[in-house]
Amino acid sequence: MTTPAFSICVYCGSRPGTNPAYADAAHAVGQWIAQHNGQLVYGGGRNGLMGIAAEAALQAGGRVIGIIPKALVEKEWAHQGCTELHVVDTMHERKRMMAERADAFLALPGGIGTLEELFEVWTWRQLGYHDKPIGILNTANYYSGLLAFLAHSEEQQFMNARQLGLVCASDTSESLLRELVQAAGLAPAAHLEQI
Ligand code: AMP
Repeated sequence: MTTPAFSICVYCGSRPGTNPAYADAAHAVGQWIAQHNGQLVYGGGRNGLMGIAAEAALQAGGRVIGIIPKALVEKEWAHQGCTELHVVDTMHERKRMMAERADAFLALPGGIGTLEELFEVWTWRQLGYHDKPIGILNTANYYSGLLAFLAHSEEQQFMNARQLGLVCASDTSESLLRELVQAAGLAPAAHLEQI
């Protein structure tokens, strides 16, 4: 197997959500990463959007790195089909390893776990702990309320435009993924089916 052109850490729901557009987006993201010779780094579960993204990447012949705390192996039904499945001791270790293995981060629709992971890498970025690009995929307007709140927070001067600008939001997965990879100073391989 060739060396991956880039690694994207995907944060997303351990549930599928109600709108089928969420599953479609997770599938499209996993597939795009694999088809452009990328590597998917994620939480290692089989459930919800997490499992859908991983499965789509694997089906398209891509590399998938799953990182899961031992306490969640059963709860999140660890995906044994991952190219690498790392069972770690703690949630902190999981998040540190996910961040280390990634060139960029992408949040898909998800719940508190997804939000916590997104805000953590965002705060780490503003503190200068890393300089990796971060994206929010606003599928079916799932994050529109959050984005409006963040604009309100800036308006109320609890954050500034520079902090807000560290995250890139879009409702289109393909252009967002391309933008993240390029912002990381890397290039997606041409669509593998075209090579
Ligand atoms: P959720 O978005 O709540 O479905 O969770 C998505 C993923 O985030 C799951 O793999 C959770 O294990 C993970 N996660 C990471 N940090 C946390 C946390 N502090 N609380 C809950 N879940 C978390």
